[in-house]
Amino acid sequence: MSADAIIDVRDLHKSYGNLEVLKGISLTARTHDVISLIGASGSGKSTFLRCLNLLEIPTRGEVFVHGKRMPLSDPDPSRGERRVTSERELREIRTHLGMVFQQFNLWSHMTVLQNVIEAPIRVRGMARAEAIERAKDLLDRVGLSAKVDNYPSQLSGGQQQRVAIARTLALDPEIILFDEPTSALDPEMVGEVLAVMRDLASEGRTMMVVTHEMGFAREVSTEVVFLEKGKVGERGAPEQIFGDPQTAACKQFLNKVL
Ligand code: ADP
Ligand code: MG
Repeated sequence: MSADAIIDVRDLHKSYGNLEVLKGISLTARTHDVISLIGASGSGKSTFLRCLNLLEIPTRGEVFVHGKRMPLSDPDPSRGERRVTSERELREIRTHLGMVFQQFNLWSHMTVLQNVIEAPIRVRGMARAEAIERAKDLLDRVGLSAKVDNYPSQLSGGQQQRVAIARTLALDPEIILFDEPTSALDPEMVGEVLAVMRDLASEGRTMMVVTHEMGFAREVSTEVVFLEKGKVGERGAPEQIFGDPQTAACKQFLNKVL
């Protein structure tokens, strides 16, 4: 494994009962990588991201974060490994990995500012004044300075998703996992969210993005991974995947979405 890998995934499998959803996926994200995951609905993209974030526990395979093997289904006691049991440990691992969901998942009873300061104060033990200062900076960066005291229901979908991104940035994760961040948005709001994501990529943020926005994937990605029925069907540089796909499945998928 290369030293600069943030996440290294080896032969990841996930089944729900008899349904094998992930059938052996390997993937490495290094600092500054922007990896786009594309593929048909049901191919396992969300499940894959959820396994990285330990929202799901993989059935088999290994995930290393900075070379540290995550305690998954089969910890090896001879290597000093044990299961993650406490919520505290799970939270600690997740602070390396920020996640942005299709449905924003903001806390509706909290203002925009409160949404952004909550985790730094509660998870990181950050002083309130510092958390507020940082949150205001982040909200400014996503263009929402004027909305700090509003509630999520008073914002458009695009604005809510930008708050969700600011909230994720507030924990300063080393890698941000995006699961179709623009799929729930009205078309006129897709651009403003993609613009924020482009900024993050150009700052050198490490990102993994499940997306149907092929223009974004083509321009911003360092690598595109096409998932097909729980396996990597094809992978490569964006110009390779979009310009000269090699597999029939990938060609067919791109014909449908482009
Ligand atoms: P994608 O994000 O690529 O659309 P998903 O990862 O959401 O695909 O789903 C892949 C497959 O796993 C689908 O067949 C879905 O029905 C199934 N699946 C996802 N989550 C669960 C679950 N919690 N229980 C059972 N099946 C699931
Ligand atoms: Mg999905």
